[in-house]
Amino acid sequence: MDRGDGVDAARLFEDSGLTYDDFIMLPGYVSCGLADISLETKLTRDITVRLPVVSSPMDTVTESRMAIYMALLGGIGVIHYNNSIQEQLAEVRKTKRFENGFIMDPVVLSPEQRISDVDTIKEQHGFSGIPITENGQVGGKLVGIVAARDVDFEPDRSKLLREVMTTDLVTAPVGITLAEGNRILRKSKKGKLPIVDEEGNLVCLMSRTDLRKNQDFPRASKDEAKQLLVGAAVGTHDEDRERLGALVEAGADVIVLDSAQGYSVFQVEMIKWAKQSYPQLQIIGGNVVTAAQCEGLIEAGVDALRVGMGSGSICITQETVAVGRSQASAVHYCAQFCKERGVPVIADGGIRSIGHIAKALAVGASSVMLGYLLAGTDETPGEYFYEGGVRVKRYRGMGSPEAIAERGAKRYMERDETIKVAQGVSGTVVDKGSVVDYVPYLMQGLRHFLQDVGCPSVQELHDAPPGKIRFEKRTPSARVEGDVHSLHSFQEPHRFGRPEG
Ligand code: GDP
Ligand code: GDP
Ligand code: 5GP
Repeated sequence: MDRGDGVDAARLFEDSGLTYDDFIMLPGYVSCGLADISLETKLTRDITVRLPVVSSPMDTVTESRMAIYMALLGGIGVIHYNNSIQEQLAEVRKTKRFENGFIMDPVVLSPEQRISDVDTIKEQHGFSGIPITENGQVGGKLVGIVAARDVDFEPDRSKLLREVMTTDLVTAPVGITLAEGNRILRKSKKGKLPIVDEEGNLVCLMSRTDLRKNQDFPRASKDEAKQLLVGAAVGTHDEDRERLGALVEAGADVIVLDSAQGYSVFQVEMIKWAKQSYPQLQIIGGNVVTAAQCEGLIEAGVDALRVGMGSGSICITQETVAVGRSQASAVHYCAQFCKERGVPVIADGGIRSIGHIAKALAVGASSVMLGYLLAGTDETPGEYFYEGGVRVKRYRGMGSPEAIAERGAKRYMERDETIKVAQGVSGTVVDKGSVVDYVPYLMQGLRHFLQDVGCPSVQELHDAPPGKIRFEKRTPSARVEGDVHSLHSFQEPHRFGRPEG
């Protein structure tokens, strides 16, 4: 007998295009505490992250600072490409260098170089603990180390390093484990631990700061060398092949092929070329909104798909070019198709609240890509300013006239297009504080969701037996009832994932 307990996803999406706001989840059986809930998920076929959140490759959202903190928190950031290849490489390198186990290619100087060289390194990379080898290279004989405290108060910046370096060194032999190295670092109370071979040549370096970073962010997304994971976006023009190659060299863990309509001869050829040139590389294709698009890109070889067309907060694609799809339906149908093929889906665009993240996962996404929700945090590029007494930051579409004017908005344009039709707008969003507070808040909300629907993990949400996860459509008045209503005034917890306006 139908007891009226909602419907399953197939029934929900049967006859019309739905957005996240058009339905609600019905509760299941709470079977565990919040602390037992796992948010671990697959970003791509081969990359697993602890949190299902990805920061969008937009020039007002993700550069190295955002990428670093997204990875430290357990998600991942994708560096935008509205810049020169060199600029994008620098952002990837900064993220990869931020945290390390063994630093395999440490910056090294020779005793004949000067304090001013240390100043330059400090300026470029942010650190000043530099091993000194005879020939100034990794692999050379280790003769000393300079640290901030050796050069801080020296007025003469042209002094040779041989005169200021510390030569009484604690080193460790090559072959020790990371855990052993950490133990020596803790005991020696030094900032750096050079690792040397039997002849005393420098092999690599360890830094005490990394112990602290590891302690502060134990759930960070890292590769085998304990460096943070980072993604980078590229277009699908011929010249993007050079960019992609350089990004892989710089250590990008995953490449996002960034097209508004991803199912094209350009993207299919780019995927094939990239998979042939870099067989290990993880590639996220898209954007797509139909199973037919997914099929074509999966055949070409993608490792994950980004789903969404025209649903973004800054986006006017559906109005200007009349192509796209209601976001929840797009995610549901793409995820259903991709699941059987082992390809994770990233729900991209239109996520304005914790509830939307939850619903995106409930209809099949393995992770969500966030633009608006992260815009206005401390870690985004750009400065805060005041607009009508409110502290805001700029947030703009990559197809907005402003972004087009700056770099050409490669995602939305053909190269030589003379009349440019905007597909996005620019605006402002309210200050949301630091992602270090905000993302954990969003994720705790998500844990409540999983607990309430009776799934201890994202995995179990996706693998739930047929009929377990129940949905119900919402009428416009049901939506009104479900939001704050009837009050004369109230305080909006807008910082915490509740939509503005
Ligand atoms: P320092 O004392 O001024 O060298 O800086 P910290 O020890 O506070 O920070 C160094 C941070 O930069 C650590 O997280 C390192 O993993 C990272 N790092 C990345 N590459 C290098 C490198 O080539 N040399 C050094 N010293 N640190 C590096
Ligand atoms: P695994 O599961 O064996 O890889 O364990 P972990 O990666 O958690 O840690 C192995 C050892 O490396 C432990 O001693 C960790 O504390 C340490 N470790 C993990 N991440 C970092 C890091 O970024 N820097 C340093 N120096 N040590 C780390
Ligand atoms: P949001 O999280 O702000 O709702 O959406 C962010 C997503 O919108 C991005 O990840 C990207 O897929 C898409 N996007 C970014 N800029 C533009 C634009 O100018 N036009 C359109 N149509 N989509 C955009």
